[in-house]
Amino acid sequence: MKQKRSKKEHTLFHVLLIIIEYIIHGISSALIWVSIGMAGFVIFQTKASPYDILIGLPLMLIGFGLAINGLSSIVFSIFSSQFNRGVCRWCK
Ligand SMILES: [Zn+2]
Repeated sequence: MKQKRSKKEHTLFHVLLIIIEYIIHGISSALIWVSIGMAGFVIFQTKASPYDILIGLPLMLIGFGLAINGLSSIVFSIFSSQFNRGVCRWCK
C-alpha cells in the first residue's frame, strides 16, 4: 500500500505540541506582563507626584492588557483549530 502525501497533515500530535507551546509561552509572557502591570500599580498607588499617575497608569494598562492578550492566544490555540493549523510550523 502506497500512501500519497503531497500535503503534510496537521496531525493531533501537531495540535498538542502547539497547545503545549502556547501554554508555556503564554503563561511565561503573561507573568512578565503581570509583574510589569503590578509595578505600574505600585507606582500608581504611591501618587507622590503627578508623574506617578502618568507612568503608573499606562504601565498598568499595557501590562495587564498584554497579559490578557497572551492568555487569550492559549484559548485560541486550544479551541480554534483554524488558528492552531495557521501557526503550525511543521505543516509549512
Ligand atoms: Zn501541523
